[in-house]
Amino acid sequence: MEKLRLIQNDCEKIQEMSGSCKPQTKVCRICLEDDGKNLISPCSCRGHSKYVHNECLKIWISIRFPKIEGSFCEVCKKYFALDIKRRVTCGKNIENNEEFSNYLKVLFVSASMITFAILALCFMFKKLKGREINEDSKLSIIIFSISMIFSIIVFLRCLQKLFLVTKIDFKIMLGMEVMSLMKTEVENLK
Ligand SMILES: [Zn+2]
Ligand SMILES: [Zn+2]
Repeated sequence: MEKLRLIQNDCEKIQEMSGSCKPQTKVCRICLEDDGKNLISPCSCRGHSKYVHNECLKIWISIRFPKIEGSFCEVCKKYFALDIKRRVTCGKNIENNEEFSNYLKVLFVSASMITFAILALCFMFKKLKGREINEDSKLSIIIFSISMIFSIIVFLRCLQKLFLVTKIDFKIMLGMEVMSLMKTEVENLK
């Protein structure tokens, strides 16, 4: 690791001096291999420090930081881009309670928005009963309908995400159960 950083620093110095040292090939800044697969550019670093393997970064983050959230590049001090975080945490998302509670929050807000919109619509129709519907009331009905549709979409999306998480959770639990059952079966056979 130390050696690697030295190489990186050297290159950065050369870059600074020459001014135009553009990399010919994409090279992972951690393992220095140039296979283009899964090479990502997670921070603001340029030149030879620009690319890194998804897997290499994951290992590096696990060494340097307690959590993937809040991990940053020590050269440019930028937080690693969110999509990398997601990819890195792939499979661990169930443990990510923060995301879960965020969805719950949005779910609660959208649910209350829907309730409010329904109540407002009911009130409006009650008020309009027996009266003629003018342009103003038409406009407010349209606005409320749009906001209600929007809230319902957010609500459904949240529900979907929440259920997706529980689905994966369930699958993993089931998988672990099957594995332990198989293990005991094998042990019994011995
Ligand atoms: Zn690598
Ligand atoms: Zn950087």
